[in-house]
Amino acid sequence: MTIEKEEFHSFEDFMDGVELTELHTHIGFGISPTMLWEIAHDQGILLPTKDYWKFVEMVTIHETKTYEEYLKLYDWTEKIQSSPEALFLGVQNMISGAYRKNNITKIELRFNPILRNRDREKDLDHLIVFALQGMERAMLKYPVKAGMILMMDRRFTHEQNEAVVRKAIKYKSRGVVGIDLAGPIERTENARNFRPRDIADLVAEARKHGLGVTIHTGEATDKEEMWEVVNELKPDRIGHGIVSVQDPILMDYLSEHKIVLETCPISNINTRMIKDFKELKNLYKTFKEHNVLFTINTDGPEMQLITLRKVFTKLYLEKVLTEEDLLTANEVATHASFIKHV
Ligand SMILES: [Zn+2]
Repeated sequence: MTIEKEEFHSFEDFMDGVELTELHTHIGFGISPTMLWEIAHDQGILLPTKDYWKFVEMVTIHETKTYEEYLKLYDWTEKIQSSPEALFLGVQNMISGAYRKNNITKIELRFNPILRNRDREKDLDHLIVFALQGMERAMLKYPVKAGMILMMDRRFTHEQNEAVVRKAIKYKSRGVVGIDLAGPIERTENARNFRPRDIADLVAEARKHGLGVTIHTGEATDKEEMWEVVNELKPDRIGHGIVSVQDPILMDYLSEHKIVLETCPISNINTRMIKDFKELKNLYKTFKEHNVLFTINTDGPEMQLITLRKVFTKLYLEKVLTEEDLLTANEVATHASFIKHV
């Protein structure tokens, strides 16, 4: 019996030869539980459990959670990643795995160095340089172009956020390609009072030095905040930005100014920001009608228990997006990347 080649044709076959780009993935959500467990033990970190499987539950989103609960998963991963060696190993592993499991050949990682300095016990330069060296090491082994984004946080004082931007500028020629803002929106008083315009001077400074600007907004925050972000911070890209679907004028503004959305669909379902695939389908349909540029990302594959390739496949199988839409989204990501070196 001969087997027709067509019988093997599936979307995954089709995606096989496609090189993917991932723009939105957090180191805090991107290092495997096994590696975190090993690092924690190598460093003698006291964990709340001695049971590996309970630990896996502690650092993955095995059931849907509210946004604020979800962000608490970061607390342990950040703690374990709070040393130069941990960042070196973790970053190297994350980029290598992205290539081997997904054929990701362009990847931007992001992390917040201050949240890994163990209350000033660790030197920020050591943390950043070791992370960048992990990135370099992975690029030696695999044909991947990688770049690092340093993150500000809504809980930080202006001075702390300024320190992040200063480091991003300092390491601009050594692998840092952009800056971002993230963090819980309710957990502390600083976070509750935070307004995007508070960091307008820092963002302008980063831009002046040629860094890319992306900002987490319009995920758990409202469209009014998103308007403030586009008006005051003028980002190149926006992390999530899904609430813009409620505002045609905002979508047209994004389209006209070519502000690219880094959507993370599975993450949005896991954090209940999006109800189901039907809602997701309507979201992308509306974005397409308004010519909003969007990309597809994981937000952090290990925490989400997903890979980027599986996200693409899922969106195709659930008929959220067509093959053509998915290839276009990947193309948009490749062009919107802050990584300029070849
Ligand atoms: Zn994110």
